[in-house]
Amino acid sequence: MSKNLMQQAAANLKKAVPLMLKHQIPTTPTNYALWYAYVGEQSPQLVEKLDSVIEQYQTCPPIKAEMLYREHISDPVEIDLIDMRQNLEAMATELSQSLKDTNHDASQFQTRVDTNFNRLNRIEEEGVSLEKVLGLVRELVKESDDIRQSTQFFTGQLDKAQSEIESLKSKLKQSENDVYHDALTGVLNRRAFDRDLDGILNQSPQGCCLILADIDHFKDFNDTYGHLLGDQVLKVVAKRLSESCRDGSQIYRYGGEEFAIIVPHSHQRKARHLADAMRRSMEKISLKDRRKNQRIDNVTASFGVTEWQKSDDAIKLIERADGLLYEAKRLGRNRVMPI
Ligand code: GH3
Ligand code: MG
Ligand code: MG
Repeated sequence: MSKNLMQQAAANLKKAVPLMLKHQIPTTPTNYALWYAYVGEQSPQLVEKLDSVIEQYQTCPPIKAEMLYREHISDPVEIDLIDMRQNLEAMATELSQSLKDTNHDASQFQTRVDTNFNRLNRIEEEGVSLEKVLGLVRELVKESDDIRQSTQFFTGQLDKAQSEIESLKSKLKQSENDVYHDALTGVLNRRAFDRDLDGILNQSPQGCCLILADIDHFKDFNDTYGHLLGDQVLKVVAKRLSESCRDGSQIYRYGGEEFAIIVPHSHQRKARHLADAMRRSMEKISLKDRRKNQRIDNVTASFGVTEWQKSDDAIKLIERADGLLYEAKRLGRNRVMPI
């Protein structure tokens, strides 16, 4: 994360947390986002509206917070994940620092109290009236109690905030996960494919192979057995293909009934063997159609396999694999091309 962003986020947090404490705003994710945006002055209307809510209620009631959040912060789809992650990191760092500071303050205070009690002892020895001493003690006790309470409150708030950050982090991780995974089959999706293929081609494209697989006559399958059973087949196929992946090869759901397998640091012959193993593993697939009380064991797929060549970009590589897949279809399906 860039230093500037980190500093900016930390600066915002420094402003936001005291404000939230001051107005007794519960430290929920929504409120964090809201007060972050508020101190960051991302939207003048938000600042204006939140100001007037605070003026009216001396705090921001949850329902108002929710409305403002919806109006000014999300569209969840538009929340920039990266930005959020950066803010979270900065918040976590900042909060653990604040916690340390608070504990430090508390222990410094303890020292001060100890010194004062020592002094009191001495006063007693030197013969000051008991009444005066008791007065001093009472004052000290009250002072220490006040500080202890406010420290406890603040520490409690920070603790809460920190555990909320933890849960936000794991949610963020989850949604990042969702972005790169296919919901039906659970394997990585097209977006992840583009990301990973670009990564490999930029770093070490030598020997990188691409396998494209497409289930045969899947439209007919859906027409005969129904879309739900079709979905089941897609899941099983994805599972079979995943199980066949070796030596860092990775499967992706490329499109509807198409899968892509990236085979890094390999070569054409090896990748073709892998594709053929995959093709054969499909022949073992067996499902039961309960409606028709009938076994389905004729799921097949066709494969195109190609290796990266000098001056290939992702598009060229994909096009070549796709051409070979088309050939496999044309020659009768359930086969790997080139032979
Ligand atoms: P070919 O052997 O030439 O590949 O024939 P095909 O019928 O498999 O190819 P086509 O591209 O004509 O049809 C693909 C079908 O895949 C059409 C669509 O209904 C089905 N399909 C795509 N995504 C899904 C899905 O998520 N679930 C189900 N059940 N079917 C899907
Ligand atoms: Mg297709
Ligand atoms: Mg097909």
